[in-house]
Amino acid sequence: MPWRKLVPRPRWLPRAAVMRPQRVVIWCFSLVLALTLAVGLRDLYTLRERVIASHQHNLALRAMGLEAAVSSERFRLSFVRDYARQLMRMEAVPAVGVSDPAIERAFAARNAPIWQMEVPLGDAPVVGVSPQTLAGLPGFERRVDDLRADLFAARQLSHVLGLTMGVDEIRNSVTFISSNGFFVTYPAVPADKAPALLQRFASMPYYRDLLPDRNPGQQLRWAPPYRQFESTELRTTLSVPIYVEARFRGVVAVDVSLKHIQALLGAPSDDSPALNRYLMDSAGRLIAANHDHPSTDLRWPDVLGDAWHDVGPQTLFATDGPGMRKGEGGYLFYQRLGTGQWMLLEAVSTAQLYGEVFSRISKPLLYVWIALPLLMWISVRLVSLLFSYYLALGHKLQQLAERDPLTDLANRRHFGDQFAQAAARRERDGSALSMLMLDIDYFKKVNDRWGHASGDHVLQRLATALRENMRAMDVPARLGGEEFAVLMPGATLAEARASAERLRVTLAAIPVEPAPDAPTSATQGDPGARIRFTVSIGVAEAGSDGGQTLDAMLATADRRLYAAKATGRNRVCAEDARAGNAEAPPVAG
Ligand code: GH3
Ligand code: MG
Ligand code: MG
Repeated sequence: MPWRKLVPRPRWLPRAAVMRPQRVVIWCFSLVLALTLAVGLRDLYTLRERVIASHQHNLALRAMGLEAAVSSERFRLSFVRDYARQLMRMEAVPAVGVSDPAIERAFAARNAPIWQMEVPLGDAPVVGVSPQTLAGLPGFERRVDDLRADLFAARQLSHVLGLTMGVDEIRNSVTFISSNGFFVTYPAVPADKAPALLQRFASMPYYRDLLPDRNPGQQLRWAPPYRQFESTELRTTLSVPIYVEARFRGVVAVDVSLKHIQALLGAPSDDSPALNRYLMDSAGRLIAANHDHPSTDLRWPDVLGDAWHDVGPQTLFATDGPGMRKGEGGYLFYQRLGTGQWMLLEAVSTAQLYGEVFSRISKPLLYVWIALPLLMWISVRLVSLLFSYYLALGHKLQQLAERDPLTDLANRRHFGDQFAQAAARRERDGSALSMLMLDIDYFKKVNDRWGHASGDHVLQRLATALRENMRAMDVPARLGGEEFAVLMPGATLAEARASAERLRVTLAAIPVEPAPDAPTSATQGDPGARIRFTVSIGVAEAGSDGGQTLDAMLATADRRLYAAKATGRNRVCAEDARAGNAEAPPVAG
């Protein structure tokens, strides 16, 4: 676009920006987009940290709630255990032991298949079985020397269990199981179930796992969920062993409603339906979850999925305090509970965690992200449109500035510019440069006979002929009126003269159709009559022959044009010397 060179470009403005303003828009928008993206990513990172922190915080709160519940149960169980131990010790001291008829009767009936000790109305009954029934039951053994003391303790506990422990929606039942082969349970169960119940106790974690070989630390245990005796309801049980002088004497157990533990774990909410929390023991056994699960005997890693296969409960229990692990499947938050026997876990999938992160992203920023590419597209379209408009406008203005409106040839000014370029080139490479100057012969007569409009036709036809017959690199121009010039870069005087001669002959042969308003008299009765015209041409070459400057060359060419006119018109003159040297046959006007 040469016209763009007409206005100087500011130095700080790159050429590419002027040539392709759309790119400037794209660059600017991309920069803004990149900046907002960077800000967004930074935000995303901090949001992720915040979401992780809030998960940990939430888990810590849940752990505190569970901790409170467990420690109150622990306190009650410890109290009952200590009381039972106390009672057993007292009975063992003969001075304190009070012979009680009810105990004596129960003692006497101890070998019956099912026996019962009388208790005051409202207290839970003490129910036992025969030593034969106990035979082979792990953890049970009839020890006659301890039996009175155990019955004494059971007698007191049958009153205390209901009072101390109570039974509500949280605690379903409390039981004292004596290793001597009897039990007290509150609320009471029918006595005929005693053999079956004792068999069940022997197989249940809340009793079996408390036996000396399995629980040397005499710790409180939390049994994984199990189905209640002769029912489908799920339960979990906290239990603690009773030892007197290093001898295992039985267990106090309290059933805790799994629903209650689930509530403490926090049910999955509508906001985070897939949020799973688990309570686990150090062996990796599931004690409770905040959701219903299909099986009662779930273990690591089946509970959490194979993604956490490699971690294992021991790894987590080995670390102190709260923690978080990132794995392939997502994030695992954990928090130890109580004296560290249990672990509260929360498994959050990566998708879910990032879902939470995205839900916290500032909405305006999100809108900006969405709006920017749209705005960019609109701006690029707009700039493209404006740019092509100004291109067309510039082109048009250039045309107006450089072209002659009648013939569309270069005007005098543009001819001057072209000459300057050609002259500079000639300076550089020493090539030749010639110029023709044309004037229509007796053009006044053409106008007079055919009218001014027909005269214009002649001028236009002459321009077309110039364009068609000159070389592509030649620059034909209308200098004014019916005077034309042709700049011929690279052409010597002889070559220019030859071209001029060919042109002269060609032009003389061109019939021009008169304008419709041509006077009828002009045709002289022949409607097919055509205007004929000839030209005189002066030729000059830059250098010693025609001078160096535009004015000098024009003057030389003009002088020779006049010489051609003077010697009869319709001829080419390329020399100054002797006027009248015939280069073309004179033609009558
Ligand atoms: P010669 O050059 O052979 O000496 O005779 P001539 O009759 O052509 O004389 P001259 O070159 O002096 O005439 C110029 C005429 O050209 C005068 C004017 O009427 C005519 N003319 C100039 N410009 C235009 C134009 O734009 N259109 C038309 N139709 N005629 C023009
Ligand atoms: Mg003239
Ligand atoms: Mg003329």
